[in-house]
This record gives sequence, C-alpha cells and structure tokens, in this order.
Amino acid sequence: MKLNVDVLRYLSKEDFRVLTAVEMGMRNHEIVPSELVDRIASLKHGGTYKVLKNLLKHKLVHHDSSKCELFLQHFGTIPLSTILFYPILRPLGYIDDGFRLTYLGYDFLAIKTMVNRGVFASVGRQIGVGKESDIFEVATEDGTILAMKLHRLGRVSFRAVKSKRDYLRHRRSYNWLYLSRLAALKEFAFMKALEEHGFPVPNAIDCNRHCVIMSLIQGYPLVQVKELQNPEAVFDRIIGLVIRLAEHGLIHCDFNEFNIMIDDDEKVTMIDFPQMVSVSHRNAQMYFDRDVECIFKFFGKRFNLSFEEESYNSDSVGGDVEDGSRPSFLSINKSAGFLDRELAASGFTTKDQADMDKFIEEDSAGVAVSDDEEDPSNSDEAIVRGTDALHLVEQTEQVQEGDGQDEVNNRESTEGGGSNE
Ligand code: ADP
Ligand code: MG
Repeated sequence: MKLNVDVLRYLSKEDFRVLTAVEMGMRNHEIVPSELVDRIASLKHGGTYKVLKNLLKHKLVHHDSSKCELFLQHFGTIPLSTILFYPILRPLGYIDDGFRLTYLGYDFLAIKTMVNRGVFASVGRQIGVGKESDIFEVATEDGTILAMKLHRLGRVSFRAVKSKRDYLRHRRSYNWLYLSRLAALKEFAFMKALEEHGFPVPNAIDCNRHCVIMSLIQGYPLVQVKELQNPEAVFDRIIGLVIRLAEHGLIHCDFNEFNIMIDDDEKVTMIDFPQMVSVSHRNAQMYFDRDVECIFKFFGKRFNLSFEEESYNSDSVGGDVEDGSRPSFLSINKSAGFLDRELAASGFTTKDQADMDKFIEEDSAGVAVSDDEEDPSNSDEAIVRGTDALHLVEQTEQVQEGDGQDEVNNRESTEGGGSNE
C-alpha cells in the first residue's frame, strides 16, 4: 500500500479534528452517521461537511451512501459537492449516509501523533509487506532510521466480515481498528519485555493505535539468505531461542525464515510477535512443535543439515540438539516462566488476549468475531459528551501555538486510540 505522506503537510487542524471525530464514532458504528461526526467535531457553520469533502478527496475516509436511496432514485449519483447540503437534505429523508476511516486515515492519525511526540520526523520507503502489516522506514529529526509497522489485522477477512454486516451490527470486536490496535499493543508489549530479558529483538520505541515504532534491524530475513558461513551455529542459536522462549513461558507461534533476521556477522534477531502465546495455552505443545519443525525443515532444505526424521529428544534442555533430534516441549524447564504472567499484567490485558485469540481462531474458520457485551461508556451520547474535554484541551493548546497550520487538533483527541477501549 502506498503511503503518500505529502498530504499530511497540507491537512489543517480542522481536518484532523473531523478525522478524529470519525475515529471516535467508530467506537460505536462501523459506519458513522455524518450527523454524529458533525456533533463530535462541532465545527461552526457546517464546517464539518466542508472538511469531510476534503478528507474524502484524499481518501482518508470512505463515504457510505448505500442508504441514500431516495436521493439516488432522483439524481442517479451523489456528487461530492452534495455533502455541503447534507444539513438540508438529511431532514428531508434524502440522505442517510455515513463515513468510516480508511486505513490511510487511521495511518495519518497514528503518524501525526508520533510526529507530534517527536518520535520521528518523516516517513520513507516501504521495506516490508506482510499478510497483515505494512512496514516503512521512518527518520528521526537527527537522521536515525527506524522501522514503523502498521498493523492491518482484518485486512484479509474484511470482505467476509462485511457480508455478515447485519448479523454483526452491534458487535464491535470484529472492528479492524480495534483488532489492529490490539495487535500493535501486544507486539509492543512483547517486544519490550523480550528485550528487557535479553532476547535479540528490535528495540521497541513507541506505539500508538495500530502503529509500532522499533529500531531498524540491519540484515535480511533468513528466507533471503542463500549461504551461511556457519549454518550449524546459526541453527543452534535459533533453536536455542525457541527453547529459551519456552523457558520464559512463551511460544512465538510464527517462528520461521520470514520472521528471523540475519546480519553480516550471522547474528540472529527475531521479529513479529502479535501471535505469541503462553506455554500454558491449551495448544502450546502443538505451537511449539510447529515452530521447531519449521526451523528443522528450512535448515535441512536450504543448508543441507541432516536431522533424524521427526524424533523428539526428551532429554534436550537448553538448546542442545546435537544428535539432530527435536527438543521436547514437555521436558523444557519452564520454571523461569514468568514472562507470560508479567505480560498479562502489562497494558495488554487478558481480555485483549482473549479477543485476539478469538479473532485468530474464528478468522481462520471464516467466522467473524463477536462481542456480546455492550459498554454504556461507548454510547453515542457518552462519546459526544466526552468530547467536551477535547474542546478544553484544544483551547489551551491554541494559546500556546505559534502558526500551527498543520498542528493536529490536540494530543488527547488523537492519542485516544480511537476504537473500543
Ligand atoms: P508481518 O506480521 O506482516 O509478517 P513482520 O513484522 O514479519 O510483519 O515484517 C515484515 C517484513 O518487514 C519482515 O520480513 C522484514 O523484512 C521487515 N521488517 C520488519 N521489522 C523490521 C525491522 N525492525 N527492521 C528491518 N526490517 C523489518
Ligand atoms: Mg512476519
């Protein structure tokens, strides 16, 4: 996906205010009625509609006009400029439309927040595209290059989800904003904890919404490496990592040649953590064996290392797999296993984990995720009331601001994370 951040420079404070209003409305609606956007943004003189038109032009929001039958019957299409007349057309029953954020709109909100925080100053080329993420280089003020991962959970299954829209009308967990944000939060929490316990992972720098900023790893994903000076040593190091992770209470669950980076000194770094699980997960052994098997298979094929056929070594502790057998999950000493519990106490809660597990499982089964509980703090009224605070912060900021042409409206409003808390 292309990320044209030039547009970012030209977006005004009002643009970001309305974009944030759409984001807030999405706590409660898949498609946010434009009237609600207007109420949340509360710009003067129908200003919201003018701004929405601009946001649409830049593809930061998507306009859903599927419920504007009366208008369409009369006029065939809905030209962009009609938006300016919505306050008149809606009471007449011509328009019952709504907006949702696009990935680009969500990207801009996260990027703007990070730039405001001083985490980085510019966005560069795309360096990776995963099934459920896009990775870009970003540069700090002093020229340091970092990696930015934008999570896109739900991208793959969005269409399938959409076709079940009626059934899901009041179900909010399937919301891609929410899921992408959870994935980022989890990845950040895990990366940080792993780093603190001496695992070779990128340095976790910051996280906002669906976006994680981390250090840029020099080197290549293992899948691109055709030759190694010392494949046995690299193999041992990698298997040692799987075992040490388990000793700390964790399983990577996607441990393969795409998620292991190798540098020129054949140093190993592991990446990509949103799917990690605890060793107490009911399928832990299966996930562990699968991770191990991926590495055995890859090194057997690519570097001609020879192993015993699928044999498991029940004595193997601490990465010792010299006889070519697989380490056995059951015989690993997990008494150091506190990381999983430590993480459960971090920003990523058990409920978050449950929601993600549910998504991952049901997504693979082709079913969308649901959430039965309605949270009264997420009602439209509560959201509109909550934005009174947004006005206050904004007024304070206005006083402090200089020219501030492309200042975002305020930190509170753009840092809220935007989806279901
Ligand atoms: P996905 O979940 O979509 O697989 P990954 O985190 O595995 O995302 O990243 C996809 C690709 O982006 C990786 O294979 C790697 O090439 C590149 N990449 C990711 N993080 C970094 C990083 N910190 N430094 C350098 N390259 C990275
Ligand atoms: Mg990956």
